[in-house]
Amino acid sequence: MTVWERLRNPCGWRAGAKQISVDAMLPLLVIPILAVIAAQAFLCTVVVFVVTPVLVYYLHHNFLRFLLRTKFFLMWTITSVLMMMLVFEISVVPLLEILPEENFVFIMCVVGGMWCGYRTKLHADTTVQEAAVSIQSLELGEGSGELCVTCRRRAPPRAYHCRLCQTCILNREYHCKWLDCCIGSSNLKSYLGCLFFSAIAFIYGSNLTMTSVCHPFILIGTVLLPDDCSDVYHQLDIALCFVSALYSLLVGLVLICYLIYHLRLLYSNTTSNERRLDIKNQYDHGMLKNVSRLFCCKT
Ligand SMILES: [Zn+2]
Ligand SMILES: [Zn+2]
Repeated sequence: MTVWERLRNPCGWRAGAKQISVDAMLPLLVIPILAVIAAQAFLCTVVVFVVTPVLVYYLHHNFLRFLLRTKFFLMWTITSVLMMMLVFEISVVPLLEILPEENFVFIMCVVGGMWCGYRTKLHADTTVQEAAVSIQSLELGEGSGELCVTCRRRAPPRAYHCRLCQTCILNREYHCKWLDCCIGSSNLKSYLGCLFFSAIAFIYGSNLTMTSVCHPFILIGTVLLPDDCSDVYHQLDIALCFVSALYSLLVGLVLICYLIYHLRLLYSNTTSNERRLDIKNQYDHGMLKNVSRLFCCKT
């Protein structure tokens, strides 16, 4: 722990440059190395894909969770997106298997995902003020919230404290490590947009890459699926494309699961935080109003 803290301390940037911590820089180094190792052979790919989650969990459990706000996971997200984008544009597009409009749709989805992710982070920080302003109106209306012991102020109803953000978040879902912010009512819309566009970008990009580097077969019309991927490991750049596509596919599927999970929570008008705490739902206004609350205007 001491060594970690020493490493983490200011890296000696004298002229007032931004402080860089080792944990934040780690993904920039680790992800490309893992990608190159995974691109050596199919067995290496399997080993890297199995070992990496275990390794990240170990790192998180033993080191990162003691750092109040580590940027490790945020940097992991940014590095992954940038790497997949670079591999796609530098290695897959020059294979000339992809139509310009397919590339355009892919780029639009990536940009949409990044924009929504940026907005999720941007709006997460305003939650404090927004929640504070709405205290009075909520106290008059639906009844007063409970006093938060940590914040030492009266939080609005359905606001829950986040240890990492050090504030009460209205309709808190959870603290998203991968974006390094809390998901609450102020940014849920952007967050769902981020999940939606990113899932499409990852899965579509994965499909385009796989069908470019593997022998494809036609499913329906112009929709292709990869068929035989046995000879991708003969060339490093093709192998890197394949590994990147596999990673994109897995991430995309996880994002879809998250999206479905949140839509189900919305349908039952609860948050994952409340479900965890097993609080009885007292604020049911019906499904229509719950959905309109998210996509139209706040009530
Ligand atoms: Zn609080
Ligand atoms: Zn938080």
